[in-house]
Amino acid sequence: MSSQTATINADDFRTFPRRLEGKARSRHHAEYAGWHASACWNGRHFDRFPEYIVRAQSLTDVASTIDFARSHRLSISVRGNGHSYAGCFMRDSGILLDLSALKQIEIDVAGRSASVQPGVTSRLLSAALAPHGLAFPTGHGGDVGISGFLLGGGLGINFHAWGNMSTFSVYAVDVMLADGRLVHADAEENPDLFWAARGAGPLSFFVVVKFHLRCYSLPVFITSNTYSTSLDRLPELLSETERIGPEASLQVMVAVVSGSNGHGVVLNTLAFAEDSGKAEQLHASLIYRLPQGLVDVVSENAAASFESLYNSTEAMLVSRRYRTDNVLTDRGADSAKILASHLPRQPSAATVSLFIWRGDPVLPEAAFSAHGRFFLSTYAQWNEEQDDELNRRWLNALYDDLAGVSTASYINEFDLEKRSESVSRCFAPSNWSKLMELRHRFDPDGVFHDTRMHR
Ligand SMILES: Cc1cc2nc3c(=O)[nH]c(=O)nc-3n(C[C@H](O)[C@H](O)[C@H](O)COP(=O)(O)OP(=O)(O)OC[C@H]3O[C@@H](n4cnc5c(N)ncnc54)[C@H](O)[C@@H]3O)c2cc1C
Repeated sequence: MSSQTATINADDFRTFPRRLEGKARSRHHAEYAGWHASACWNGRHFDRFPEYIVRAQSLTDVASTIDFARSHRLSISVRGNGHSYAGCFMRDSGILLDLSALKQIEIDVAGRSASVQPGVTSRLLSAALAPHGLAFPTGHGGDVGISGFLLGGGLGINFHAWGNMSTFSVYAVDVMLADGRLVHADAEENPDLFWAARGAGPLSFFVVVKFHLRCYSLPVFITSNTYSTSLDRLPELLSETERIGPEASLQVMVAVVSGSNGHGVVLNTLAFAEDSGKAEQLHASLIYRLPQGLVDVVSENAAASFESLYNSTEAMLVSRRYRTDNVLTDRGADSAKILASHLPRQPSAATVSLFIWRGDPVLPEAAFSAHGRFFLSTYAQWNEEQDDELNRRWLNALYDDLAGVSTASYINEFDLEKRSESVSRCFAPSNWSKLMELRHRFDPDGVFHDTRMHR
């Protein structure tokens, strides 16, 4: 479905917004440019322009938009809260359906669960749950939309202890289909839709209007330890981390950053515990088992909270222009060597690479099916347009090389602008085939935009 085959005329669009509680703007409207400019989380400009942007205020608006798109042969792309690094919600032609105003949160304290609308963010959800002693493994950025995050898998806070990928803490969804039906999906009812909603990410062929979430006890003590080491010892640090196998409630991240003396390595461990003694023990279970002298202490037992974690993630992303890519890998040390070989040519000092220890969990059957003990992502960031090409080329060359040691990629941080044709590498082969079959079955006319099409 595309605007080339659309049968829309100006009158149709003039009357359509009257059916909405929210608003809609066509490309010709004076407010369109402002809506387009604010769609991306950090104000990045995209030279892809949907014909219409709809800001939904209700489920009826979502239904009306699907109906309008279907009857006029326009495709829909969906925006949760605009945190896709690739801006995959921003397409040429069709309708951009913005759900960010739908922010309702219902909490069942006794049932330790929450039902949330798609415009809810990490920060909003954590703030609503905390007074009840509850928490959810949200993304590390405070304003990251819960819906894109969960649909793509979700590598959340304290994910090891809380069901691994956050999407596995979704026990049901309410979705609106291409034919306009609103259906509930869980393990028993509409299991294929439930399967797809846990991992399809930008390849979703429906609109999720509510996620039903299993919640966890809010940890009383969250503490953060930071250590440093040199770049040449990074492979050893990753191998040792793998040998030790960190405990579930210890989140282990290794950042490669540039400083005044070239690149350095920062190891951060986050302990989620019920008391301070247990938190110290969690940190010690890794640090005291590393070879002596491998890391130097920067700080230990710093009190942390969900809010401080959100703030420190946001502080990492400092530039106006950025691009990201990632691999999952079982070969931490080899991937570190490949990364190190590319760093001398890294164009921007603000660029950061991050290894997150994932371990080897057995995942429930769902669309999300990407395995790899380490997640290695790079956030290339710079400020000037003239440096775009240099930075993109550097990132592409790095991840072309890393493909040789990767087991998969994580769809939510995959370079969908450059590599959309190879997005299948984010899924196990049989899961990919099933996803394509379901997409065809539930959305035969392509009402929902196919992210494999570059624009
Ligand atoms: C600062 C920052 C920090 C991040 N931290 C993390 C992190 O800690 N862990 C992690 O895993 N990821 C992280 N991410 C990546 C993040 O998970 C993805 O960008 C995710 O898509 C963001 O969700 P969103 O709702 O804002 O997505 P959007 O950009 O709004 O949407 C992305 C795509 O998801 C689909 N989509 C979204 N909502 C719906 C819906 N309701 N129904 C159907 N389809 C929908 C659409 O295809 C859309 O194009 C981070 C990103 C940023 C910018």
